[in-house]
Amino acid sequence: MSFDLAARLAARRAENLYRQRPLLESPQGPQVVVDGQSLLAFCNNDYLGLANHPQVIEAWRAGASKWGVGGGASHLVIGHSGPHHALEEALADLTGRPRALLFTTGYMANLGAVTALVGQGDTVLEDRLNHASLLDAGLLSGARFNRYLHNDATSLAKRLEKATGNTLVVTDGVFSMDGDLADLPALARETKAKGAWLMVDDAHGFGPLGATGGGSVEHFGLSQEDVPVLVGTLGKAFGTAGAFVAGSDELIESLIQFARPYIYTTSQPPALACATLKSLELLRSEHWRREHLQTLIRQFRRGAEQIGLELMDSFTPIQPIMIGDAGRAVRLSQMLRERGLMVTAIRPPTVPAGSARLRVTLTAAHSEAQVQLLLEGLADCFQQLDPEPGHA
Ligand SMILES: *Cc1c(COP(=O)(O)O)cnc(C)c1O
Repeated sequence: MSFDLAARLAARRAENLYRQRPLLESPQGPQVVVDGQSLLAFCNNDYLGLANHPQVIEAWRAGASKWGVGGGASHLVIGHSGPHHALEEALADLTGRPRALLFTTGYMANLGAVTALVGQGDTVLEDRLNHASLLDAGLLSGARFNRYLHNDATSLAKRLEKATGNTLVVTDGVFSMDGDLADLPALARETKAKGAWLMVDDAHGFGPLGATGGGSVEHFGLSQEDVPVLVGTLGKAFGTAGAFVAGSDELIESLIQFARPYIYTTSQPPALACATLKSLELLRSEHWRREHLQTLIRQFRRGAEQIGLELMDSFTPIQPIMIGDAGRAVRLSQMLRERGLMVTAIRPPTVPAGSARLRVTLTAAHSEAQVQLLLEGLADCFQQLDPEPGHA
């Protein structure tokens, strides 16, 4: 017996990296109950406030009445039902791509797409700050795996020179821990010039970005030739769950044949697809949520800069406050919590060592008054926070 789990856990604690799950005792939203405490929260990814929207809930209920609650089988057996198919068509329309394929989670969509497209003898090039699911997918694929400098098309171009076989370049559209936008036009240019393919995971872009919520690809006006493989997830701004890959007919047919995380899993509940169809409709047609969100983002950045907080280069709902030391980040998060504010501290290994931060996320469900409360709390707590690491 050699699993010394107690020692591993103790080491984790000693490094200030021990993780615990806050228990949410209310629906998702700005005002929540967590571990028995009522809190104003700035940490969910429900960017448009659709996770608890009455019309989306009603669509879910009606869907369950008509289709039951379980998918019942995998898509290739007998689990691909009417709502799944209708949702795929609506997602193809949103993305302006010929087709879209529904996955059960974003993690699985990424594993499925990358492993279906490249293998031994091929190359995967990824941004070093990509989401963990993309990095895992690259490693699992068996292709030569290399990371380029963050959002750096020149660094990518150098690695493309040495790439062999089919080459897939993979990037987040909006980086999940920094909130900055990938320079997709430059990445697409380099990638196309070498005959490689660009895959964009726009989990945080769909909804908040683009004139109709079509994400970073809509924001930049990029075509299918620029971005042949486009991934979106439904658990963030869509407020539901699941994910999709959008692209050409050949791409989607290939995923149906070869993407193991698509093939060997039960389809999501059809009622969930009914709910997502409703949230997709709200996401596309009701622009006020995006506009309100932009107002809050400007308000937050202006206020945070006045306090002297170090923000990152982001105009998205992800507005991290850079702290550096993990212990300090955790203490600041705890001080805020004592004032009734919940903002998560993000620590290594989720972010690089020495770059612990508070990850503030804003949503269209927040009010300007709530953002003001956050700014006031930050001003007080930041002042009281000990300046150097290790002086707690
Ligand atoms: C959240 C996220 C995922 C995973 O999506 P799930 O549906 O939650 O599994 C994938 N990529 C990025 C960039 C994400 O932020």
